[in-house]
Amino acid sequence: MKLTVLGCWAPYPRPWGACSGYLVQEGDVNVLLDCGHGVVARLQQHVDFRQLDAVVITHFHWDHFADLFALIHAVRGAFRDGSRNTPLPVFLPAEPEDRRGHLDKYGHYVQRQNIEPGVSVMLADGKMSLTFYPTRHSLPCYAVAVEGGGKRLVYTADTGWEEGLVSFAAGADLLLAEASFPGESKEEAEAAGHLTAAMAGELAHKTQVKSLMLTHFWPEYNIEELRREAEESKGGPVILAMEGRTYNI
Ligand SMILES: [Zn+2]
Ligand SMILES: [Zn+2]
Repeated sequence: MKLTVLGCWAPYPRPWGACSGYLVQEGDVNVLLDCGHGVVARLQQHVDFRQLDAVVITHFHWDHFADLFALIHAVRGAFRDGSRNTPLPVFLPAEPEDRRGHLDKYGHYVQRQNIEPGVSVMLADGKMSLTFYPTRHSLPCYAVAVEGGGKRLVYTADTGWEEGLVSFAAGADLLLAEASFPGESKEEAEAAGHLTAAMAGELAHKTQVKSLMLTHFWPEYNIEELRREAEESKGGPVILAMEGRTYNI
C-alpha cells in the first residue's frame, strides 16, 4: 500500500502548500483521505481524479473539506464529456447538517455514505477496507484505518487525546497522526480537541505501531521542534509528512 501526502497544513497552508489530503493506493485502488484547500490540484499530479474509488471526509472543518467542491466540479465535467458516468462515493459524517447540506444539490455526482463507527467498508471487491473510530474534536470527526495488501494505515484525523485510539491504532504499520501543537501549548490543544506532538508520540509508543508520521502542521510552529518532542515521547524516530512525497507502507 502507498501513501502520498498531498497536503499537511492546517488550518491554512504555507505558500505553495495545501491543507489535509492523503492519497492511499493499493494496486489500482485509489482512495483520498480528506480534501482540504489546494488538494485537488495536487491530487492530479499523481492520479486522474476519474480513477478515484472513494473519498473520505473525516469531518466538516474546511481545511479537510473545502476542496471537495473542486473535486465535485471535476466529476461534473467528467459527466459532461462522458469520461465518467458513476457518482463518486464519499464517506462522511452525518453531522453537522448545515455543512453537509452544502452537498445536497450535487447528489447526481456524489454518492454520500454516512460513516458508521466500527463497521468495515470493503472497496474494490475487498482489495481495500476502511474502518472508522470517533475522535474527540469540536465537530463529529472520525479516525480511519485503511487496510490493503496486508498492511494497515491508521490516520487520526483531528483529535484530542482519546484513549480508545490506542486500541484502534494497534497493529498499524503506519500511524499518520495529527500534531497541531507544541508541548508548551498543551492546554490550548486539549481545549481545541487536538494533539500535541508529544501526545502523538505517546500514542505511537502505547500502540507499538511500526512507524509514526506527524501531520496537520500549523504554519506558525517549527516542525523540527515538533518532531523532537514526538521522538522523545515515542522513544524512537518519527517521520514528518512531506507534501508530494510517496511512502511505501
Ligand atoms: Zn484540521
Ligand atoms: Zn478539525
